[in-house]
Amino acid sequence: MKTKILTDKIEDIEIAANIIAGGGLVAFPTETVYGLGADAMNPEAVKKIYRAKDRPSDNPTIVHISSNADMKRVTTEITHDMEVLMKKFWPGPMTMVVPKKKELPYVTTGNLETVGIRMPENEVARKLIELSGCVIAAPSANLSGKPSPTTYQHVIDDLQGRVDAVICSRQCRIGIESTVIDLTEEEPVILRPGFFTRENIQWALKKPVIMDPTINKDPRDEDEFHPKAPGMKYKHYAPSAEMIIFQGEQDEVLDAMDLEKRERESLGQQVCILSYEGDEAAAAHDFFAELRQADKEGYDIILAAALPEKGIGFSVMNRMLKSAGFNIRRVEVGSNDYSNSR
Ligand code: AMP
Ligand code: MG
Repeated sequence: MKTKILTDKIEDIEIAANIIAGGGLVAFPTETVYGLGADAMNPEAVKKIYRAKDRPSDNPTIVHISSNADMKRVTTEITHDMEVLMKKFWPGPMTMVVPKKKELPYVTTGNLETVGIRMPENEVARKLIELSGCVIAAPSANLSGKPSPTTYQHVIDDLQGRVDAVICSRQCRIGIESTVIDLTEEEPVILRPGFFTRENIQWALKKPVIMDPTINKDPRDEDEFHPKAPGMKYKHYAPSAEMIIFQGEQDEVLDAMDLEKRERESLGQQVCILSYEGDEAAAAHDFFAELRQADKEGYDIILAAALPEKGIGFSVMNRMLKSAGFNIRRVEVGSNDYSNSR
C-alpha cells in the first residue's frame, strides 16, 4: 500500500478525515504520542489497526472524541466522577475506562465490556476527529513492542506502506502516553500512570484513587501478576540495544555509569548514556525519541539513570523499567562497589 504523507494544514486534515470515514487508517499527532486511527464503530477498519501494528487482539484501543457530545456514542451513562474528570482534564492526556455502549464493536475494546475514552488537546487531532464525523479508535502509531512514536519520522519508520496516510506535525508535547483511570470499580484505579498524576486526580475527585499494585513491579517477582490494563502485560517500548537502569543517589549513579561506560568501551562496545538529572518533563518528552535514536545510531548498550518515582517521574519510570526489561543495577551509597540486582 502507498502511504500518503500529509501536512497538518486544513486541506490535508480533510483528506485524512475522508480516509477515516471511508474505513482507512491514518496516523496523526496528539500531545502524548502519535496515534494510529480508524473509525471506532467500523470493526473491519479497526481490525486493520491490529494488522498494521502487529498488535495482540486483546489489547484495547483508546477511543478519541472531539466533543463532550461524542460521549453518548460510546458509553451508556455519564457519572458524577466522569463529569468532574472531563471538566478538569479534557481536552488532555487522560483516558477514562467506563462501560462500553453495545453498538461499539468488541474489536475496538479488545473484547472488553469497557472502553477507554479520551479527548486529546492537540488541535490537529481534534480537527481530524471532527471532520471525519467519527469517533476514532487509536493506539500508539508504532509497531507493537517498539518505543512509542513522538515524531512523524518515527511513525514513517515503523508504518510506511502499512497505513493509508500519516499526518506530519510537530514533536509530541508530552511524549509519554495518557494516564488511564478505571472508573468502573467502587474506587477509581489508575491502570497506567501518565502526565496527570494520582495526586492531580485525587485532588479533582476529592477522594482516594488507587494505583494498580502491579505498576512498576517486575513481573518476574510477582506470583500473581495480573494487571487490569491489557497493554501493561506485554513486552513494551524495547530498544534493540541492551539497557541497564542505574538506581541510587545521583552522584554515585553518574560515577557508576561512567565506570561501566569505560569498561564497555574497552570491550569495543558503543555506549549511550541517558540522564535527566531530575527534569521529569524533559525525561517524558525525550525518552522514547532517545531510545529510537540509540537504535538508529547502532549503540550496543544504553545506560540510564533512574528518576525518583514520584509525580511524572513515576510515569516515566514505568516506561523505562519496561524498556530495560527490569534490568536494574542498584548503586550502593558511599562506594562504586556495586553489583547487579540479579
Ligand atoms: P496505547 O495507546 O497503544 O498505549 O494503547 C491503549 C492502552 O489503553 C491499552 O494498552 C490499555 O493499557 C489501555 N486501555 C484502553 N482501553 C482499556 C480498557 N477498556 N480497559 C483497560 N485498559 C484500557
Ligand atoms: Mg502503545
